[in-house]
This record gives sequence, C-alpha cells and structure tokens, in this order.
Amino acid sequence: MEKLNNIYAKKSGNALGGEIDYKALDDKFAARTYNRFPLVISGGRGSILFDDKGKEYIDLGGGIAVNTFGIADPEWAEEVTKQLNLIQHASNLYYTKPAAELARLICEKTGLCRVFFSNSGAEANECGVKAARKYSTDKYGAERHKIITLKNSFHGRTLAMIAATGQEVFHKDFLPVMPGFEYSPADDIDFIKRACSGGSVAAVMVEAVQGEGGVEPLGEEFLRELRDFTEQNDILLIADEVQCGNGRTGRLFGYMNYGITPDIVTTAKGLAGGLPLGATIFGEKTKDTLTPGSHGSTFGGNPVCAAGAINILSRLDEKTLEGVREKSRFLVESLRGAAGVTGVSGLGLMLGISVNGDTDKIISDCIQKGVLPIKAKNKIRLLPALNIPDTLLEKAVAALKKAIAENQKT
Ligand SMILES: *Cc1c(COP(=O)(O)O)cnc(C)c1O
Repeated sequence: MEKLNNIYAKKSGNALGGEIDYKALDDKFAARTYNRFPLVISGGRGSILFDDKGKEYIDLGGGIAVNTFGIADPEWAEEVTKQLNLIQHASNLYYTKPAAELARLICEKTGLCRVFFSNSGAEANECGVKAARKYSTDKYGAERHKIITLKNSFHGRTLAMIAATGQEVFHKDFLPVMPGFEYSPADDIDFIKRACSGGSVAAVMVEAVQGEGGVEPLGEEFLRELRDFTEQNDILLIADEVQCGNGRTGRLFGYMNYGITPDIVTTAKGLAGGLPLGATIFGEKTKDTLTPGSHGSTFGGNPVCAAGAINILSRLDEKTLEGVREKSRFLVESLRGAAGVTGVSGLGLMLGISVNGDTDKIISDCIQKGVLPIKAKNKIRLLPALNIPDTLLEKAVAALKKAIAENQKT
C-alpha cells in the first residue's frame, strides 16, 4: 500500500503519503480498452460534472446517453435509494415488484406485449436475435436464421454482437466472425429484398438513428418500406433502441419518429437513468417465443435498476419530450451555418456536428473551456441530459462554437 502510494502520489500531502493520481493508477492497472480523456470525474449535479480538482464542466455527453436526467437527479435518486434499502437483488427465481411494474409500464407506453430484462445493450440485442432465430426456426426450420443488419451499425461488443455490427473494424482481431449475419447499405431497400429472396432471413435489425456510426437517422421512406416488406414476408423487424431510445430523439423511442411498430425493440443506455439495465421488448408475434429455460440473466430486472427505470420512464411524458425537441431546435439553429460547422445530423438531443477541423483538437479545447461533448466517427456528438437547463445549454453551445471556429482548417 505504501509503495503504491509512493508511485502514484503527488507532492501535496495527505495521511496516505500524498494525493493519489487516479489517472496514473488506472493507466497502469485497468485493461487498456479505452482512450480516456485526461479527466477524473468525481461527482456532479444535474448537467454539471466536477473533476478531482474541483473544476466544473457542462456535460454534453450524458455518460453516452445514459444519465437521462443528469447526475444525482433528486427524484430518481430517492426512488433508487428507497428500493436499495428494501432489497438490492432477489434473483429471477422470485417475482419482484419493480420488475413487474416496469414491464407493465414499458408495454403500456409502447403498445408491445412482453419484456425480458438484462443488464446492457449488447445483451438486450443478443436476446432479440435469439428470439428472432427461435421464432423463425419454430415456424420455418433452422435454415431460416439469417439476420440482416446495416453497414455502419453498432450493436455491441459480445462475439455475436460484433458479428451483428456492420463495421469491419470491430471484427478484425476476433475472427472467425460468428456466421448468420449479412450487411446491407443503409437506406437500400432493394439490397434487403434481394438478400431475403432466398428464404434464409429471419430478421432485419436497425437503429432508427445510427449512433456510433455517426449520428445518422435512417431515411423515412426506407424504414417505412422496410416495415411493409418485412411484415408481408413474416420477417421480423428488430429496432435497436439502445442509444436512440428512452426519449433521446424527442419521442419515447426513435422508431416512433417514423410511425412504424417493430416486432422486437431492444434498449438499455438511458433506460434506468444511469444504472445498468437492458430490455428486449416483444410485440404480438414474438411475445411467447422465448419459453422457460430458453433465456435468462442473473442480474436482469434487478429491483434497484428497475426502480430507477420506472422513475425515468414515467417522467418521459409529452411535456418532457416536447422540451427535448425544443432544446434540439435551439441547438440545431445555433450550430447550422456557424463558423467551421459543415453540417448537423441527428434527432432530438442526439446530434452529430460535422466540422472543418480536427475533432479531437476541438474536444480538447472544449474541455479547457469547461464543456464536455463526445465523438462519433469524425463528428462531434451531443447527448446531453434530456432536462439540461436552457441557460447551461446556451453557455455550452457558445463555448463549443468558439472551439469549432478557433480550430478551423484554413
Ligand atoms: C451502446 C450501444 C450498444 C451496446 O450497449 P452496451 O450497453 O455497451 O452493451 C448497442 N447498440 C447501440 C445502438 C448502442 O448505441
């Protein structure tokens, strides 16, 4: 212990022999899976984050669309701690109140029929794909098992979900890629129709707004046509709403902007407002596909996470969603045409800014200025809390615009 503290301590003393440098500690002992920004986040309130030196930042990343109503939202924190003091975990051998209530709430709000709970987006998608394969196998035999996903999609990091992800960069180094997935260009309905013509396709999985792929909403006509085509051919449509769900786009789920209803909806990220919870939501066709023993999760539906999600979902009413759309309009109007901005994509509070400049440099500059946006491909991505106060948003956008303007390539 003493030695550690000596290695990672800085001069300014405390009882342990120095102030611990957590960045150095993490860099040495944590697996090197992340390129982190050089900030140690130690707390926050609402849309303000503090680092370990006490510097304040306006948060435009929301923990990657997770902290739906910001940090330590009082109403949410109260519901979560109340549940924590009742029981933190019961296992899926028993019923619990929060999981049952949350399942009902999700079905009421979507018009879908049943929910399976897991802990993450990748798991929610795994469950969706398993259910799609089983639906198709039960009805047509195991040959009809293929899942079509889109190029540039992102569906998670498990072996099956990197196979589902239509980006080679996620496959390399982990070969062989699990079979059974085929990738279509986004917005190319003819490609999908051709791929389905052999009778081997069970489902098509799409993000209404591709997040990691660069904050790109699907074309309206494409998604409507895709829904009609899949419906007519009893091919399931799975909406991966892990990032674009839970109010993010100004509707409860991203697909709702398109006036369609998928057969299976998967979500996670913002669902429980900062606690790990995934959900796979089944429509009429697939509601009884999974049967006892065909799927499960030890932590899935954890009562503390479910209590958090009940609070979040019950607050995503029309008024809150209109607020999201209003804040979005403000952002888009301030950014479009600003110096160095070449485009703004996305929906609601899920926006991507194309810039004439180096995104990394712009983000570093923003950090200096006390504002924390994130990246998606080569765009600057904004995923702030859905209730970020307008005054903070105005301040953050002014700093962001300044950083973009000052870092323009000439
Ligand atoms: C983040 C994300 C996932 C993966 O979620 P994890 O919780 O990291 O497993 C899957 N799909 C989409 C669209 C995502 O944005």
